[in-house]
Amino acid sequence: MSAGPSGAFSAEAIEAGRKLFAAPCEFFFAAARSDGLPPVGAPEIAFAGRSNVGKSSLINALTGRSALARVSHTPGRTQQLNFFHLGDRLDLVDMPGYGYAAVAKAKSAAWGVLARDYLRGRPSLMRVFVLVDGRHGIKDSDEATMTALDAAAVSYAVVLTKRDEVKVAERNARVEATLEALRKRPAAYPETLFTSARTGEGVADLRAHIAELLRERGRGAP
Ligand code: GDP
Repeated sequence: MSAGPSGAFSAEAIEAGRKLFAAPCEFFFAAARSDGLPPVGAPEIAFAGRSNVGKSSLINALTGRSALARVSHTPGRTQQLNFFHLGDRLDLVDMPGYGYAAVAKAKSAAWGVLARDYLRGRPSLMRVFVLVDGRHGIKDSDEATMTALDAAAVSYAVVLTKRDEVKVAERNARVEATLEALRKRPAAYPETLFTSARTGEGVADLRAHIAELLRERGRGAP
């Protein structure tokens, strides 16, 4: 994974990512309590981020579908973990948004318990993608999430969003500040990607990164 728009991945990796995300993607489970998680199945990746970071938009851009966002934004489902099959090789988990002032404190606490329990005890979870708004960089609530991930020893990578909203001259500084913040964090992947769901920049790279992750786990395409 690299901060660059494209070119850090081989043509083969980009193609593996494209193929992986061309598979049908369907919602199959919503978990509201830690004792109500689906049985462990395919390898999982999870997406987390502050409310409004662009999580639904990015998941939709990755999968090329709009059903995911609709499900996750359904009232009552926004505080749940929403599980999706991507073909039969990978499951995607959309975690509840955090850190939004309008979310009642009690709800944030519930998010904490559900998310922490899931993160601690999920052997199929390969990596969490912590989405960070590229216009603002890492905020306190993102730091809190990363601290929880470090404590749970869950591998995670930061993905910057809304690249199209950030001036070209500011992008490098945003990436550098992000990498600097990750340097001291034991479970953080040491690189980042700057994506835009609106223009599609970085999306093929993120797919390639995920396909490589699967391949490393010995579950890649033959
Ligand atoms: P979520 O709450 O994290 O799921 O965020 P959404 O995907 O619903 O997006 C929140 C807002 O940010 C919406 O108004 C989106 O249109 C906007 N947004 C999401 N991704 C992008 C992006 O890549 N570029 C721009 N300019 N806006 C985006």
